[in-house]
Amino acid sequence: MPKITRRLRSKLSPKSEPAAPIRAKKVRPAAKSVPPRAPPKKAKVSESKSKTSESKISKSKISKFKASANPWTPAEVYEAFSRFRKANPEPKGELEHLNPYTLLVAVVLSAQATDAGVNKATRALFQVADTPQKMLALGEDKVRDYIKTIGLYRNKARNVIALSEKLIAEFGGEVPRSRAELESLPGAGRKTANVVLNMAFGEHTMAVDTHVFRVGNRTGLAPGDTPLEVELGLERVIPPEFMLHAHHWLILHGRYTCLARKPRCEVCLINDLCRWPEKTV
Ligand code: SF4
Repeated sequence: MPKITRRLRSKLSPKSEPAAPIRAKKVRPAAKSVPPRAPPKKAKVSESKSKTSESKISKSKISKFKASANPWTPAEVYEAFSRFRKANPEPKGELEHLNPYTLLVAVVLSAQATDAGVNKATRALFQVADTPQKMLALGEDKVRDYIKTIGLYRNKARNVIALSEKLIAEFGGEVPRSRAELESLPGAGRKTANVVLNMAFGEHTMAVDTHVFRVGNRTGLAPGDTPLEVELGLERVIPPEFMLHAHHWLILHGRYTCLARKPRCEVCLINDLCRWPEKTV
């Protein structure tokens, strides 16, 4: 048997099988190959993409620093939020809306877009469609025209129509008040649910966007590798009396003071409490 095998092997793998052309085949495609086309975009835009991008931000810019070695004391947390409250007793979100429904739509449209950009588009849209019924009557094509200045507007228009249909079919045309129901709506995820529950229904939720994520990590208030970790950490340390407005205080702090590239530590209300080793004061 071994002799047969060797013979067979020599016939099947003759020495004349050229080695060089094989190597050339391995090299040539790498140098001249056409890059594969990007996969087609999925129809549904959910928050999972923005969550992913927030996680990327964390890994590239923030997560090197972990403040867990020097956590804030309860007295320090209380002091920080007392200062935020004194400076701005009634903080407001910057997404323009007329009712819970338009708030929901605005938050869905704000994924990977600025509040200012969303407001620019929705001012006219909400004048003609401030209920799910009116949005359906307007139709997807016209919704798309109204929001075409916002990124991913085609998919977002589709989601706005789909969530309006679902609100009418399953919730009597009203925005539901439970997290699970909100998260079941097309284009809505945990952050959308938290914003709506907080702003429309006064619940003590903590929506973590890129600003809150950065502030929670940098200050050491609630370090975490994901938005969910930061959310749960903030809910753990912030006293209940501040929770209604805490989300807005932290967003505004991140947007106007604790800036991503160049934080304005010299004018920061909590610079003596912040744990960030690179703070400039
Ligand atoms: S001290 Fe600087 S890094 Fe710390 S929270 Fe204030 S602005 Fe941000």
